[in-house]
Amino acid sequence: MNYPNTQLFIDGKWQDAVDGRTLAVLNPATGQEIGRVARAGKAELENSVEAAEKGFQLWRNSTVAERSRVMRRAATLLRERAEAIATILTTEQGKPFAEARIEVLAAADIIEWFAEEGFRVYGRLVPSRKDPAIRQMVVKDPVGPVAAFTPWNFPINQMILKVSAALAAGCSVVAKASEETPAAPAALVKVFADAGIPAGVLGLVYGDPAEISTYLITHPVIRKVTFTGSTPVGKQLAALASAHMKRATMELGGHAPVIVCEDADIDAAVKAAGFAKFRNAGQVCISPTRFLVHKSIAREFGNALGEHAAGLQVGDGLKEGTQMGPLANSRRLDAMAEFMRDAREKGANVLTGGTRIGEVGNFWAPTVLTNVPLDSKVFNEEPFGPIAAIRSFSDMEEAISEANRLSFGLAGYGFTRSLKNADLLARKVEVGMMWINMPASTSPELPFGGIKDSGYGSEGGPEALEAYLNVRSVVVLNA
Ligand code: NAD
Repeated sequence: MNYPNTQLFIDGKWQDAVDGRTLAVLNPATGQEIGRVARAGKAELENSVEAAEKGFQLWRNSTVAERSRVMRRAATLLRERAEAIATILTTEQGKPFAEARIEVLAAADIIEWFAEEGFRVYGRLVPSRKDPAIRQMVVKDPVGPVAAFTPWNFPINQMILKVSAALAAGCSVVAKASEETPAAPAALVKVFADAGIPAGVLGLVYGDPAEISTYLITHPVIRKVTFTGSTPVGKQLAALASAHMKRATMELGGHAPVIVCEDADIDAAVKAAGFAKFRNAGQVCISPTRFLVHKSIAREFGNALGEHAAGLQVGDGLKEGTQMGPLANSRRLDAMAEFMRDAREKGANVLTGGTRIGEVGNFWAPTVLTNVPLDSKVFNEEPFGPIAAIRSFSDMEEAISEANRLSFGLAGYGFTRSLKNADLLARKVEVGMMWINMPASTSPELPFGGIKDSGYGSEGGPEALEAYLNVRSVVVLNA
């Protein structure tokens, strides 16, 4: 395929950096440079913010019906271009083409849902306790120009959640997607441009992440910050946003516990957890990572998950039949090697995988570890890769206490046939999203987000729109 170079999108125009600087983009399946992305400097950032301010005034004063029309047109164009955009996505990110295609098509559904939900941004009338002639109104307004920062694991999905909610609320957006996967987000922005979004309403920049986030978050025009990425970076950006009194949504890392109870349907649990674990090579914030299996079934479960992992077809995401692609960048390969070194040293048992595959591209064998010590790195730091770490437990209290031990609180999974255990898990596991007897399933109308160190705010459901709205009260005496 012809992989495109990526330009910046500022004030409705695609452009290179003024000084012509670019960064390399690599194909994770080959390690080869496949293209370049423009690197914004201060001048381009200033132009982006100026455009976002102009775009905000235009967009907030358009009708909700106009905004919805543009968004629905964008969703239609996105569906028409799904194959081409999914090919770009796989080429720069690595995930199997089928997963990339699902991501693009799901983005069209997300745009449509928010395009409709925008009609339901209602205020309210509150009766006065003092005088019936006093009209008390609660009104909601778009918060203002938004700075949105998105990572490389779901370049389309993470971007569209932010952009759709912001646009539906009447905000303009300056987005900075990952420099490592720039062309798919650019194709997404192009869909909005072709759908007729006015100049300045949606901008896209790339460059040095820290330079861009510092510039945008501290700029007085920007009123809202939204970030998806690691907890350490999220904490830095949240602190900066807070110092400048900016609203913020933080979708950060996780370390999802999977509690497989004594009474679980083991085949179903292996199928669901196996699918969820190795999707996108485990580079998913809600990926199941800490498997806690009742001791009576731990061996059977481990062996079955190991068999599932060993049977996965690993290869170039564009190759027919590939079930798991390469890791998205070489940092993840180094991280997997370090998790494995530490796990081996601490005495974990390697059922399958545990090594890099070949020397070309970032391929890592789907890995299942059993008897993993609690103090091993993989049971404490987010693996963000295709390693399933299993420990056994004796009673539900022990499992739940382990599930809640870490500071993360994003996703959790439970497998059980008992209503009592299901209810216990639903109530006691401290996570923003819990799936019982199934792999993760997200939808635009459901809140998506974490608690504890996994962040705050939601990226789905009506709550996602609220994050882009100011609430004000206006009281009028109709004398
Ligand atoms: P990282 O922490 O350096 O970067 C994570 C993301 O934040 C990247 O997209 C990066 O471009 C961006 N980023 C980094 N510094 C930034 C800054 N100062 N301002 C704005 N954006 C900034 O690490 P990485 O090697 O890219 O990823 C590794 C870890 O990040 C993973 O282990 C995982 O925990 C986390 N991660 C989480 C998600 C998620 O969906 N929550 C996505 C990607 C990465």
